[in-house]
Amino acid sequence: MLRRTNKEIMSVSYVVMLLFVGMIAYLGYFTVHDADTFRNNSHNGKRLALLEDKYIRGEIQAADGTTLAASVTEDGKDTRYYPYGKTFAHVVGYSYNGVTGIESQGASYLLNSHTNPIIRIIEALRGIKSSGDTVITTLDVNLQQTVYQAMSDYNGAAVVMEPSTGKVLAMVSRPGFDPNTLPDKWEDLVNDSGNSSLVNRATQGLYTPGSTFKILTALEYMRENPSSWPSFTFDCDGTYTVEDYTINCSKKKEHGEQDLRAAFANSCNGAFAALGQQLSFSRFYNMCGDFGFNTSLGTRVPTATSKFELSNNNSTWKILQTAIGQGDTQITPMLNCLIVSAVANNGVMMNPYLIDSVVTRYGDKVASFAPASLRTVMTAAEAAEMEKMMEKVVTDGTGSEAQGSGYTVAGKTGSAETSKDVETNAWFVGYATDDNNNARQIAVSIVLEEGGSGGQAAAPVARKIFDAWYENQ
Ligand SMILES: [Zn+2]
Repeated sequence: MLRRTNKEIMSVSYVVMLLFVGMIAYLGYFTVHDADTFRNNSHNGKRLALLEDKYIRGEIQAADGTTLAASVTEDGKDTRYYPYGKTFAHVVGYSYNGVTGIESQGASYLLNSHTNPIIRIIEALRGIKSSGDTVITTLDVNLQQTVYQAMSDYNGAAVVMEPSTGKVLAMVSRPGFDPNTLPDKWEDLVNDSGNSSLVNRATQGLYTPGSTFKILTALEYMRENPSSWPSFTFDCDGTYTVEDYTINCSKKKEHGEQDLRAAFANSCNGAFAALGQQLSFSRFYNMCGDFGFNTSLGTRVPTATSKFELSNNNSTWKILQTAIGQGDTQITPMLNCLIVSAVANNGVMMNPYLIDSVVTRYGDKVASFAPASLRTVMTAAEAAEMEKMMEKVVTDGTGSEAQGSGYTVAGKTGSAETSKDVETNAWFVGYATDDNNNARQIAVSIVLEEGGSGGQAAAPVARKIFDAWYENQ
């Protein structure tokens, strides 16, 4: 009896020893080595493929725990399932012939496991793949669906963000694609250069900002004329002519006598072209650089570089165009969202993020991510003044369609020309504040390709987003 017990103890000890040795080898390799090598290096295809052999990709979830991507194993083969199809396609991304979106940004978590080491060792010894950790995003399912539907059939993009934290609540790019059908549709999608359905326009799309850019033109003018800007006046008769060049207001509307606030609210092109000529181009260029143009922003959400060009050598035509957001300026919907969010956040631009936390498949916390500021782009006083001007756009100007009930909107419309032959791209950027201060602020940046007027086409989309948000708070 005694001998048998001893034998049992010996055998248990042996197994524990084996597990312990295995654990050191296993954790030594997978946790330490992988963490160092893979964090922020998810594009390493060969290494990623090695991990794909060892792990089943973990789940991607919305902020409330709703599944946005999960792995399904059938006949020994792992496939990825995306319950919301097109709606979350670009932001969640895919892992097929390349890795994009959160599938890429979160790869070092999705393809790693922090469950109990014993469980993992047993799985390893049995030769079965471990499930990776679960990535919990900042995304709001209801808001994402609202944005996707509100954009109807327009191509374009929208970003919805909480200004005080940088949490991205929704991010839509259209046209969409169904990530569940990528293996069947891949050839069609990669050859579809006309629509570029696979491109995430919200972060990679570079658009002419149109009149949304007047936020920066107005701010630069106020900085250069700190005491005299309130007495700026311009008498608009619908067109503004310099040398051989003519700038028209929308539909050649005569805005009449305009001060800066009225010109901003009415989006008077003549007034902005006129004051644009008075700016210091080097200062204007530097300010746009501070706001994130011509530079890699260093955002946690990978974003293309927006472009601003203006120098003393530029032609009169380019100066007039640049002041009203035309010319060669190009902006991502993401940067436009960051700019209005900074106005809402007392001048501090927050670093946008999509991954809120990481947990094991059993729900134990692995990592969590805190809000971080990117840069301070305005003084609090400048932000307060800009907020007043943007509120006037909605109460008295071109953005009235963005207003719903129970919240106050500050915004700017844009109708950006891309070619004489097609409709303008419709923009609305801005944010809403709950009138009772019970619910969180949200900022939006919406562009609808060939949508026409920003006030008519994009502002109502903003309103639907604000309504959906505040109805659910
Ligand atoms: Zn005008």
